[in-house]
Amino acid sequence: MKYAAVVESYEKLEAHTGRLAITETLAGLLKETPKEELPMLVYLTQGKLRPDYEGVELGIAEKYALRVLQVASGKPAEHVRKAYVESGDIGTAAQRLLGEGRQGALTSDSLTLKRVYDTFFVIAKTSGEGSIESKLKELASLIADATAEEAKYILRTAMGELRLGVADYTILDACAVALLGGKGHRKVLERAYNVSSDLGHVVELAAEKGLDGVKNIHVQVGKPIRPMLAERLPTAQGILDKMGGDVVMEYKLDGERAQIHKDGDKVQIFSRRLELITPTYPDVVEYTKKYVTSKKVILEGEVVAVNVETGEYLPFQELMHRRRKHGIAEMMKQYPVAVNFFDVMFSDGEDFTGKPYTQRRAELERIVKQNEFARLVPAQRTKSAEEIERYMEEAITQGGEGLMVKDPKAAYTAGARGFGWIKLKREYRSELTDTIDLVIVGAIHGRGRRAGVYGAYLLAAYDPRKDNFPTITKIGTGFSDEDLQAIPKLLKPYESEVKPPNVESILVPDVWYRPKIVIETIASEITLSPIYPAGLDSVRKGSGLALRFPKFTGKIRDEKGPDDATTVKEIVEMYRTQNKKIRE
Ligand code: ATP
Repeated sequence: MKYAAVVESYEKLEAHTGRLAITETLAGLLKETPKEELPMLVYLTQGKLRPDYEGVELGIAEKYALRVLQVASGKPAEHVRKAYVESGDIGTAAQRLLGEGRQGALTSDSLTLKRVYDTFFVIAKTSGEGSIESKLKELASLIADATAEEAKYILRTAMGELRLGVADYTILDACAVALLGGKGHRKVLERAYNVSSDLGHVVELAAEKGLDGVKNIHVQVGKPIRPMLAERLPTAQGILDKMGGDVVMEYKLDGERAQIHKDGDKVQIFSRRLELITPTYPDVVEYTKKYVTSKKVILEGEVVAVNVETGEYLPFQELMHRRRKHGIAEMMKQYPVAVNFFDVMFSDGEDFTGKPYTQRRAELERIVKQNEFARLVPAQRTKSAEEIERYMEEAITQGGEGLMVKDPKAAYTAGARGFGWIKLKREYRSELTDTIDLVIVGAIHGRGRRAGVYGAYLLAAYDPRKDNFPTITKIGTGFSDEDLQAIPKLLKPYESEVKPPNVESILVPDVWYRPKIVIETIASEITLSPIYPAGLDSVRKGSGLALRFPKFTGKIRDEKGPDDATTVKEIVEMYRTQNKKIRE
């Protein structure tokens, strides 16, 4: 498959806005691609090289991409920078510079999908001393053989900025149409994706073995399952009504979600984003081996820092020390953790995802030998709103964040946010009952005491429909001195000279950041605003939504990616709920 053919479709995808046209173009591309190359195509179109859980990252920094472009175009560095700043994105700049006086290749016979993919793979895998230079050499060799149009997409991909506006679910739609003969099969594909988290593999099987092949993708130890997510409702009575009057309340603990796969003596731990975090928690590995009796099993639990003497849960901040890459043995002693199991998706040859909560909980009770380091999340069944409120207070007194209320009849719905689980958090001293996770996209210089560090950050929510990040607030409170030192270091690699093309903003900060770092905030309320584009027109024509009195809670949500941030749709819903409460 020629890379030029892929690029031709990418150009069309970019030009379309309607979902139907996007699906059709994508379906055409899938049909055209040889079976064995489909996984490569799918990963590249997702802007990746492999499924997330394998942790293969491309990530060429802005300054290096500019350097490669400078060499390829033969233009002075200043000229290249100017083109970049003016066009606002590396791809457009490359297309322009290489198109001028035909600097790029006229045709690109040698550039195949496979060559582009393989080169990216080599770049991602190169590490250690001198690796930057060899990565750049590889990238430059691709660009040297690329036409201006191809260079545009190669550089965007290299910088992790492909943005074709193609969501995973659109790829599934296109796959159903192109390879299984109709959209009707989308549900089967979706299920296969949700239990395997590997879109390339699902599409490949659809092409090779058809519907039966896809149906044969089952929950498997070693392959992470896309997590079940909770909805939110503001009141205990509301939750009871929604679930039919009979619920199970569980403590909502404040730690890190862990999906634990055990196969005999081998234990792997995946984060909420399905990245491997086994090395962070050698103790959890040991506890799972020792205290979970099922030989082959997939469990889910919340890892929480604990006080060993008293057995009490400690705040999330304590757990953050464990995220360091070095000195884990020391950290393990200093910050001990307990794993609190709340679900089981597979146990000794049996898939539990389709079974009701009550059966899954019974299985957990059967297979976990409970002690202070490996236990089940406290749970209690009830039909009473008052009891929910009491249990909520108890959970908070014990160091929890609130409750997770679960429908005893509900299955484990992988990859979906639904009403099988509903979270009920503590009422903060504000109208908003829930925290909001937002992405840092800019910073504003500080004055006075904050001179020399940033005074405020510009934050954005996520809009999955447009796959972009509209801004929603500036935030300057809640940061400790330690945070003010640490956050700029985290942000440094994502600094951008231009407004990142996937950020929507009217305000212009002193520094832009590519959307990457997610932080947790609370606010007193959500208001209409003319200067923030989040949720523009969804409540009132010409207005977006903004946070009033936003405050950083102290939590950097590094287990969340930018597209796991709170969505615009959720914020619009929160705005409506809040207004209803005020009216009541
Ligand atoms: P999302 O709902 O997208 O995960 P979030 O992480 O901000 O967003 P939270 O309000 O933190 O959502 O609630 C979900 C998280 O709560 C889970 O991912 C899990 O880590 C944690 N959690 C704590 N206790 C439980 C429990 N008993 N059952 C399920 N999840 C729990």
